[in-house]
Amino acid sequence: MLTEKAQAKINLTLDVLHKRPDGYHEVEMVMQTVDLSDHLQFQERADAEIVLTCTAPYIPLDQRNLVYQAAHLMRETYGIEKGIHIHIEKRIPVAAGLAGGSSDAAATLRGLNRLWKLGLSLDELAVLGAKIGSDVPFCIYGGTAIARGRGEQIERLPSVSPTWVVLVKPPIAVSTADVYGRLRADEIEHHPDTAGMVHALTTGDVKQISAGLGNVLENVTFAMYPEVERLKQQLLKFGAQGALMSGSGPTLFALVEREQKAVRICNALRGFSREVYLCRFF
Ligand code: ATP
Repeated sequence: MLTEKAQAKINLTLDVLHKRPDGYHEVEMVMQTVDLSDHLQFQERADAEIVLTCTAPYIPLDQRNLVYQAAHLMRETYGIEKGIHIHIEKRIPVAAGLAGGSSDAAATLRGLNRLWKLGLSLDELAVLGAKIGSDVPFCIYGGTAIARGRGEQIERLPSVSPTWVVLVKPPIAVSTADVYGRLRADEIEHHPDTAGMVHALTTGDVKQISAGLGNVLENVTFAMYPEVERLKQQLLKFGAQGALMSGSGPTLFALVEREQKAVRICNALRGFSREVYLCRFF
């Protein structure tokens, strides 16, 4: 049996440059993986089936699951006829803006590459991953990177010191398509400074990084779910230097310099939210 971890991601910046003629949004985002991860186990089967099991009861286990799609794509592309059982131990909140499904798909491509001894490079796996979803290529590499295009064009950045991250997820599920559908790309007033964030990351200074956090989807999600904005205000009130919504939300995060302070913020948040996580850049 082989195991692989699938890390959650947060957006330190998320900018939408314009809407493209093909209907997609042209994005520019600084992405970072954190050490909150799903654990995947791969076991070969005697028959030719792809079988999924998962600890979370509400996730589809058929071709709607991105893990299934990744295993299917790998078998089709490389003419593999062996069956596979993949067990997903879910720890990343679902439909939360943390790319849990995309990261599971990326971990599946990495895991099956090892199990079936295909010898593919990360770049080759990222090309395959883009066929499943725009966030999958970043999740193949992990670490710190700028994502452009629809999110699938990755420029890797040097790794950053393992900053503490407090994550808090309001008890709602947000549809990414819905949020992008309501965004008016030509009416965005404040674009995050991607280059400034890249520079801040090289300093490793949490204050500077926090000052550069920005996500143009925040206002869209806040208008749909005012409780998300209220929770962001709580996070700031409890002493976070900066806070931001990840992806299309609703998960919010704050970067914190010292572990003790991060623990204090987590404890304070637990009075308001059942889903609070303490993790680090990974
Ligand atoms: P993103 O940040 O990329 O928008 P997300 O964190 O908001 O992703 P996911 O957790 O990836 O959202 O899940 C969104 C939907 O995808 C879920 O409602 C679920 O039914 C479906 N899905 C398919 N495969 C998976 C998977 N392996 N894990 C979680 N959800 C999955």
